[in-house]
Amino acid sequence: MNDKESSGGGGGAEALQRPAGVRVAAAKCVRCSQPVQARYRPFCSQRCAEADLGAWVTGAYRVPTEDGPDDPAGEESSEDR
Ligand SMILES: [Zn+2]
Repeated sequence: MNDKESSGGGGGAEALQRPAGVRVAAAKCVRCSQPVQARYRPFCSQRCAEADLGAWVTGAYRVPTEDGPDDPAGEESSEDR
């Protein structure tokens, strides 16, 4: 007995197409937006790298140190008997 010709098949044949020539590179220097050199990532050159590093060292990198008068609870006179 043949009921019907169930024409199954077909379906989601979605072909995932990847963008041809997808590159991961093309990174830009964080300082001057020039093509990054793999050697100096994430900078374009040693100059930029040093400049950025220098910025950190010279003052850009400031840690708010609270010079509060901490109670000098030294254990100098620990004659507690
Ligand atoms: Zn640069």
